[in-house]
Amino acid sequence: MHIYKVGGAVRDRLLGRPVSDIDWLVVGATVEEMHAKGYRPVGADFPVFLHPKTGEEYALARTERKSGRGYGGFTFHASPDVTLEEDLTRRDLTINAMAEDEAGTLYDPYHGQTDLENRILRHVSPAFAEDPLRVLRVARFAARYAPLGFRVAEETLELMRQISASGELQALTAERSWKEIERALMEAQPQVFFQVLGACNALQELLPELQAAPQALAALEQAAAHGLPLHVRWACLLRLLPPASIKAVNQRLKTPRECQELALLTGECLALADKALELPASALLELLQKFDVYRRPQRFEDFLIACEMIALGEGKAGYPQAGYLRGAAAAARAVDVKPLVQGGLTGQALGEALKSERLHALEAYKLN
Ligand code: ATP
Ligand code: MG
Repeated sequence: MHIYKVGGAVRDRLLGRPVSDIDWLVVGATVEEMHAKGYRPVGADFPVFLHPKTGEEYALARTERKSGRGYGGFTFHASPDVTLEEDLTRRDLTINAMAEDEAGTLYDPYHGQTDLENRILRHVSPAFAEDPLRVLRVARFAARYAPLGFRVAEETLELMRQISASGELQALTAERSWKEIERALMEAQPQVFFQVLGACNALQELLPELQAAPQALAALEQAAAHGLPLHVRWACLLRLLPPASIKAVNQRLKTPRECQELALLTGECLALADKALELPASALLELLQKFDVYRRPQRFEDFLIACEMIALGEGKAGYPQAGYLRGAAAAARAVDVKPLVQGGLTGQALGEALKSERLHALEAYKLN
């Protein structure tokens, strides 16, 4: 059997980027041989194994054929007679279709190295169209390598447009789509992901709500430039949508709870935060209650950071409202519940007394 390094590890080494995980390809081996060498199968019907010691992924060389709609509609053919070149043909991009053997010899039948040098994301073969997820993968690589000057080849963009027009993107499961979107959001220039999806008409298939809000990308760009976490980036992206659309997007993609919550709260409360300095104490209190700032202070802080990114995205020099609201949150949180409890208050009466103390604290804060 022959073992090759493939995919991202080869590509990123040639680009001089850090290699995080290595994908290995095994040519000329049977499933039984892999078992005998102590490799553990990843799934029941997928020819991928984990190395007994390193835990890295070793995939048997395979060919793929599309046999139906969606991702389930794939037939794999893994056998010792599948060649290196055959396996590389089924890969998405030329820069991902290179292999390296133990001696360090590069195998590059689709000229991935030339495309790397010319900074081009180009599909390997027309079979690209068989898995619609590749549209998202290309957009994600465009977002990742945008700082290096990469762009999508015109003929690849055309193929991506055909995939969008075929309706096949609708067949992607929420899990597969979100996984790509999530990874794209964490890339260096996530706005490029959405621009590429827009350019190939995939946005109207996957996230039609976003089409009406191209300005949202400026806030997302700022959030990425500041290295902010996923849920803050997601909130920046969705903030212009009406709450019903924010809910619909999150439900459709089955996004994590933290993303759902912050996106919805940001969409609902951004306009209020913009007016923070003019708000009466009662409205400030309502805003803080809505975020449950007493038990979830970080969530309110995440909201304020999102607001700051949105302001930066709109070209504003700063967002004084954020500092003001931080102060308001601190004032309301400083109200001590202990004396009220010691005074014998419980239940609803305690809740009301606490609320009124906080209101006083905010009134005092406003006077300062
Ligand atoms: P990353 O740095 O994100 O891990 P990668 O290129 O290694 O990038 P993986 O998802 O780890 O991406 O996949 C490894 C390789 O498998 C890819 O380089 C590509 O050759 C191939 N591959 C993965 N998913 C697909 C797909 N949906 N269609 C075609 N080829 C794919
Ligand atoms: Mg990889």
